[in-house]
Amino acid sequence: MALETKIVGVIGAGQMGAGIAHVCAVAGLSVKLMDIEQANLDKAIKQISKNLKRQVSKELISKEQADTALTLIETGVDYAMFAEADLVIEAATEQENLKTAIFKDLCPALKSEAIIASNTSSISITKLGAGTDRPGKFIGIHFMNPVPLMKLVELIRGIPTDDETYEQAMAFIKLIGKSPVSSADFPAFIVNRLLLPMINEAVYAIHEGVGTIESVDEAMKLGANHPMGPLQLADFIGLDTCLSIMNVLHDGLGDTKYRPCPLLVKYVEAGWFGRKTGKGFYDYTQDPPKPTHRHL
Ligand code: NAD
Repeated sequence: MALETKIVGVIGAGQMGAGIAHVCAVAGLSVKLMDIEQANLDKAIKQISKNLKRQVSKELISKEQADTALTLIETGVDYAMFAEADLVIEAATEQENLKTAIFKDLCPALKSEAIIASNTSSISITKLGAGTDRPGKFIGIHFMNPVPLMKLVELIRGIPTDDETYEQAMAFIKLIGKSPVSSADFPAFIVNRLLLPMINEAVYAIHEGVGTIESVDEAMKLGANHPMGPLQLADFIGLDTCLSIMNVLHDGLGDTKYRPCPLLVKYVEAGWFGRKTGKGFYDYTQDPPKPTHRHL
């Protein structure tokens, strides 16, 4: 019988970890949020509190729900806080060796029936699970950014993941009000496997002069009914992240159709990562943001 999730551990209090803690606490679960430094945790709590207030002002949740949610989140820098956790979700920095080291330290601190999930966007769930003391109780639970707003959660079974773990993870996703979609454990899962090649193709379109930054975005907004153009979306995701996902697809599937566009590589070399650095395919220091055309 699959275990019921009542206490959730979250490792990493960055944008994803904070969002995961937020939605779990709103659903009434007890949350243990961990990071390497207390300062990161304090920042995460501030962010969660701000986002909860916004949800109250939009009448999505009541003030009481928001206040209760905040009391349900406990922060700390030690794995000992996960001793009673039914599920621990790892949402630390996207580096394989760092995640492997985390799981090595985490496992001895857990009860034997606890399941472990990773929120990784690109690393093999089967490989990460193999480095733990419980590959059968290891699964991918991939949230979308921003977590409180996005309905979808991808659920990824590794080769050894057992049925109870899959059922528990599925029930957990529904309990926190999200909609699960199952994906096999192959590079970039479903959403990024489809979305990133489209963004990469949009960069090729401007690289080859098929269109300009403005015309490519306008065409996809008006012609495909996308809420934002692919280059605007790339700036929102971060061009460094887009490139790293294309590299994962290219390396992991070995097909040249996934080769990152050289122009995307150039923007990343320039440190033009998109919104977060103030410049990407658009310059965000201008109002409205101005397309960044190349000079020959
Ligand atoms: P982030 O950089 O905002 O946060 C990472 C956090 O992990 C930081 O607070 C860092 O201090 C912490 N951390 C690093 N080493 C740690 C350790 N040893 N123990 C505990 N905490 C540690 O990153 P993010 O965007 O929140 O991404 C986190 C994970 O979620 C990654 O695996 C990423 O691939 C995945 N993800 C990201 C997105 C996205 O759009 N950003 C979407 C889905 C999944």
